[in-house]
Amino acid sequence: MTKTSASFILVVAITLLGCVKEEEQQSTSQQTPPNRGGSSSTSNLFFCDTRDLNRDSSSQLGTLFSDYNKMAVNKAASSPANVFTIPVRFHVIQGDSSTENGPVPDDALVEQIDVLNRAYAGETGGTQTPYRFQLASINRVSNAKWRSLSPGSPEEADVKKALRVGDATTLNVFISDIVAPEGQKGTILGYSTFPFVYQLQPEIDGIVLNYRAVPGSDLANFNSGHVLVHETGHWLGLLHTFTGACDGAFTDLVSDTPREKPPTPGNYCPVGRDSCPETLGTDPIHNHMTYTGDSCRTEFTQGQVTFMRFNTLLFRGMR
Ligand SMILES: [Zn+2]
Repeated sequence: MTKTSASFILVVAITLLGCVKEEEQQSTSQQTPPNRGGSSSTSNLFFCDTRDLNRDSSSQLGTLFSDYNKMAVNKAASSPANVFTIPVRFHVIQGDSSTENGPVPDDALVEQIDVLNRAYAGETGGTQTPYRFQLASINRVSNAKWRSLSPGSPEEADVKKALRVGDATTLNVFISDIVAPEGQKGTILGYSTFPFVYQLQPEIDGIVLNYRAVPGSDLANFNSGHVLVHETGHWLGLLHTFTGACDGAFTDLVSDTPREKPPTPGNYCPVGRDSCPETLGTDPIHNHMTYTGDSCRTEFTQGQVTFMRFNTLLFRGMR
């Protein structure tokens, strides 16, 4: 990478991060986070707390993506023939010695890797992607202060600073309980950083996963491992398919995912739903990047593969 392109990427990352922080401040002041449910009932669950880009940052990223798509060399790099094997480092945070073996057995994490590989290979549906996953380590940590994390909290920063390992191509997954800012447990099942964040804040890179969402847990509709498939989609650069809802040019920047409004909470596989009837296609209820239930979310699209490749090439150096 030349100095010029490295500087360019840094400027892009600074701009995008500035937009995200602006949005977070507005959300905090309004006490109405853009994509989080407010109920403690799992029937009203919005499972992900990853904040989508706002209109300005989405527009800037979209311009870059458009330029990328015009370059033949990048189209070649998007071929599924190029496989990227990503090492996964699990950090299981436990409360005390009485739960030393935790509610997350090693078998569940081995199964989680299998679920990731099946989903990203297209074996559950949709298009195969170039990403595969390899279990690199399971690190078990007993620390009562870290057992329940809140998005953006000082405790989360401490956890990541103490435990995170590897570089931009290493997927660190911190497994704990997650407490929503409103105080509920079990409503947020995961959240992730986007690739561009790594350029400025590599120390916070990674995914926080609720222990309730690992394969084999007793949380109905979200215990197959597909929550981590969704969060890993964010980690690879994907936005929610309902970004911008039905509105104008503000989208998930992927051309082959039909537009939709956020799915209705509790309706885990609303077949035939068409929340944006003025636009082409029915809601992408089977896409991994929406909010339906685990068994309903089974596919990525070719457009999402291209967008992931763009993000991981530019911001994670995967080439
Ligand atoms: Zn999400």
